[in-house]
Order: sequence, then structure tokens, then C-alpha cells
Amino acid sequence: MTDGREPTSRDRHAKDTARSPDGTRIRDVVAAATLSAAQDVEVKMRASDLTVRYGETVAIRDVSIDVHSHQVLALIGPSGCGKSTFLRSLNRMNDTVPGVSVSGQVHLDGEAIYGPEVDPVLVRRRVGMVFQRSNPFPKSIFENVAYGLRIAGVRERGVLAERVERALRHAGLWDEVKDRLPESGLSLSGGQQQRLCIARALAVEPEVLLMDEPASALDPIATAKIEDLVSDLRDEVTIVIVTHNMQQAARVSQRTGFFYMGRLVEVGDTTQIFTRPKERETEDYITGRFG
Ligand code: ADP
Repeated sequence: MTDGREPTSRDRHAKDTARSPDGTRIRDVVAAATLSAAQDVEVKMRASDLTVRYGETVAIRDVSIDVHSHQVLALIGPSGCGKSTFLRSLNRMNDTVPGVSVSGQVHLDGEAIYGPEVDPVLVRRRVGMVFQRSNPFPKSIFENVAYGLRIAGVRERGVLAERVERALRHAGLWDEVKDRLPESGLSLSGGQQQRLCIARALAVEPEVLLMDEPASALDPIATAKIEDLVSDLRDEVTIVIVTHNMQQAARVSQRTGFFYMGRLVEVGDTTQIFTRPKERETEDYITGRFG
């Protein structure tokens, strides 16, 4: 209301029946937008007061952050600030590091992944990972992708072939390798090897994909392909990506978290973080004053 009086039922009716130029009722448009906003913020993973120590060294402290479903969350910050440690805590990959201790909690679809009864192998099947350096096995292109499926007990050749093809298509690699599936994965270029590793991770159909600087060792063309892929993949999976490249974070993500010295300084919509950061430390970092 602009005249300061309380809205009457007539006002409310007028608002409900108001129409946009194409004849759609504004109320329906607003309701649809609200619904879609609500769907957009479905929480896939939630870290609460997460602290990770390597022996006496505190790598991250009291990190709380939500990972929204079917979005890309980028994690930025200077080297050594705890981004990879945080990423690895989302699928219990840190469990494999000697001397590590984790306190706080991480939930996946509301279930605590650090619960005593939880099998970390099953967590890692739901929350896959792609590393900085592509690491194909010295096996054929086909077997690199089929690997996780075989471990998961898929034996039938037809099913394996279909799942391998689907994963390679999702990773944007099928057309380049469909005629050379028996060749070694190591015969591919660096960018193709990284997409092969992405296909390998996708083959077991994870719900979340963690990517630790997946393009940092690649040339600009291969990097652009990985970035396009990340944007396309969010229809399939929820993605958390660590990157030291702020332009990359701005290009591929919907939300960005800034880490500094083991703390999550701020997290928000990517546009807001890069144009109107709330914290001074974030502003200093994105404007290149340190890091
Ligand atoms: P970033 O990914 O931001 O570069 P990391 O998570 O790799 O940061 O590191 C955070 C801190 O934890 C650093 O001080 C680093 O030296 C330490 N750290 C990381 N991995 C290990 C490890 N396996 N053992 C001991 N300390 C580690």
C-alpha cells in the first residue's frame, strides 16, 4: 500500500486478480516464482560446526554451510585456507588421512554421514569426487568408466555398456572416444583424461559431485570444456567445486563460499559475493589485495 492504510479485502481481491500484459494473473506468477525459489533452495547437504584437525593442526574450524540441490557451490580462498579439507569432509575422504579428527556434523538428505553406523564407502558412492590431477587407471577407456560399476556389482555386459556410454555422454566425451573404447585411458589428452575421470565418477550415478580444482592443470580450451560441463551437469547432480580461479567460480556457480585461514568467512549468491561482499576480508580477496 502506498497511502499508509491497511489493505481491505477489495484491495486484496484486486491484487489477486491483477493481470500482467500477457493476461496471466500476477498472483499465479508470484506463486510460481515463490514455489520455484523454494524448490531452488532444497538443501542437499549441510555441514554444521565442522572442525577438522590433522594431529594438532586445525585445518578448518566451525564451518557451517548448506549445499543446495542441483546448484553449483564454488569454494574460493587463498592456498592453505582449508578448501580441500572441507571438500573431502563432505564424502568422508579425510577418513583415509592418518591422524585426522573431525567434529561437528555433515548431513546428506538429512542423514548424518559421520554417524557410527554409516559405511563411508556408501557415502562415497552417493557423493563422488574428481581430483585436481586426472588419474585414469592404466586400463582401457571402457574399463576406466566401468570400474565403479563392477565394484558395485554390475556384471551384465549389456548393462555395463549402456551405463558406460551414458556416463561418457554426460561427461561430453562420447563422440571423441566411441570408436576407441578398448584403447588405454592414458592415450587421451589431458582434458580428455579429466573428462574420463568425470565419466568414471558419474557412472555410479552419484547425487553430489565434489570437484577439487578439476581444471587447474589444463589449457584454456580444455578448461572451457570442463566449465561448460560443470554448468550442464547440475541438472543431474549437485556440485561443489574448489577453484583458485575467481572468474571460473563466477562463471560456473550459483553460490560461492569464501574461506580464509580455516574459516568460512562468507557464503552467498555468487553475484552478491563478487559484487557486494558483506565482509571486508572477502572484498580484499576478490579485489586482489591479498592471496
Ligand atoms: P586449500 O585446499 O585451501 O589449499 P587444504 O585443505 O589443503 O587447503 O589445507 C588446509 C590446512 O591443512 C593447511 O595448513 C595444510 O597444510 C593442512 N593439511 C592439508 N592436508 C593435510 C594432511 N594430509 N596432513 C596434514 N596437514 C594437512
